[in-house]
Amino acid sequence: MTALLTLDKVSVSYGRIQAVREVSVSIDPGQIVTIIGPNGAGKTTLMLAAIGLLPSIGAMRYEGEDLADVDVEARVERGMCLVPERRELFHDMNVEDNLTLGAYSRRAKADIRRDLDDVFDRFPRLRERSRQLAGTLSGGERQMLALGRALMAKPRLLLLDEPSLGLAPLIVREIFKTIASLRNLGISILLVEQNARAALETADVGYVLETGQVTQQGAASELIGDPKLIAAYLGGH
Ligand code: ATP
Repeated sequence: MTALLTLDKVSVSYGRIQAVREVSVSIDPGQIVTIIGPNGAGKTTLMLAAIGLLPSIGAMRYEGEDLADVDVEARVERGMCLVPERRELFHDMNVEDNLTLGAYSRRAKADIRRDLDDVFDRFPRLRERSRQLAGTLSGGERQMLALGRALMAKPRLLLLDEPSLGLAPLIVREIFKTIASLRNLGISILLVEQNARAALETADVGYVLETGQVTQQGAASELIGDPKLIAAYLGGH
């Protein structure tokens, strides 16, 4: 099977500071892959490089195609979609308009209406609040709106940057349940998270990123039982 996305020895620098060092990651179609690691490990940097917002060295392939000359717009057109850590919603626009903007690269209005209904079915809370300004939503609702907006772009690969950031435990559980359910839509997911336990419970494969380098990788179900990881990231439960 051809991997959907492969990063092969990817490095990213901010001036003379190398934030990501020779990281290799592979995501197969239909897989949820998580990259866990502490604050400042380089997770966001890697995501920005993968979508083409930061220059990198090393090789990236998407559906077998070399991404070296594929800019961010073209990556999005091919089905890559980033949901950034800060969620980047339009706060002065209502929920429905934020969602419709997610489909800006698509033309057929009837399709957009149907997809909007699908998103509302998935997130009934957003339907209830469709006329409410995004800036007035709770943190969990904003994360749902960010996910819903990404779904409007009909992605094949979602890059999710810390979807649990700043959310209460109950809401985190709901968000991760939603993420797991996206697999049924045939969407592959690269998930970076500080909430290692929730991420590994949801993912098929996990990588540990520490100071810019992969220090461990394997099946998520094995990593979750690894004593070293339990001590460092999984809260000892
Ligand atoms: P967090 O979970 O806190 O977002 P992270 O794992 O996503 O952490 P990054 O944000 O990718 O980590 O940061 C990796 C390293 O790069 C850190 O040492 C950070 O200080 C540095 N860094 C991030 N952004 C910049 C920037 N714009 N200029 C210079 N250094 C940066």
